Amino acid sequence: MRKEHTMLNLHNAEFIRSAVRVADFPQDGLPQIVFAGKSNVGKSSVINKLLGRRNFARVSAQPGKTVHINYFLIDKQAYLVDLPGYGYARVSQAERQRWGVLMEEYFALGLLTLGIQIVDIRHKPTKDDVTMAEWFHAARRPWIVIANKLDKIKKSQIEGCLAEIRQTLLLPEEVPVIPFSAEKGDGKEVVLEMIAEHIGKDALK
Ligand code: GDP
Repeated sequence: MRKEHTMLNLHNAEFIRSAVRVADFPQDGLPQIVFAGKSNVGKSSVINKLLGRRNFARVSAQPGKTVHINYFLIDKQAYLVDLPGYGYARVSQAERQRWGVLMEEYFALGLLTLGIQIVDIRHKPTKDDVTMAEWFHAARRPWIVIANKLDKIKKSQIEGCLAEIRQTLLLPEEVPVIPFSAEKGDGKEVVLEMIAEHIGKDALK
């Protein structure tokens, strides 16, 4: 029997809170779709593009400034969990440590249901990107990689860049790498389809 799907309304998204400690993490059983990426990779831009909002997730003016996890609720169906950006050169050791502790606390609770890791399609993933991939791998949940800033490379470079990302992050075969442009919108439908499928809804077109 065909499962009855209804539409997911992405425009019905609301900011819930900035979490800084375990007590702040919602634990109500709703799916938690987790976005991670290094500072300036375009994480806020990707989230805004997916939700069709201009300024929803703040486009960071001061990268790496704050260590908190932003929670958004999408159509009362799932949380969009925006992890703090990493790898910003000019953060203090103390702040770097706070990032690590917060990650450990979040991942230890097993709340993540879908991981979305954002990398820059132009560059070989950094050591921090590899560490983040290890976090997602260890979570043993479905996980996808968005290769953002597609508009910045030539068509002829795409395959090579995707292969380098896959190899460097040591991605299991089932983890898709999706070329994406938060600027132009490439990849948006594919990712929305995956999110909707994860939640058990039809994608909003
Ligand atoms: P965050 O720190 O990861 O949240 O990154 P932001 O969303 O603040 O984006 C960092 C910078 O990259 C901004 O200047 C964005 O306009 C730019 N940017 C983000 N995505 C893209 C993209 O797909 N293509 C291009 N050309 N620029 C992008």
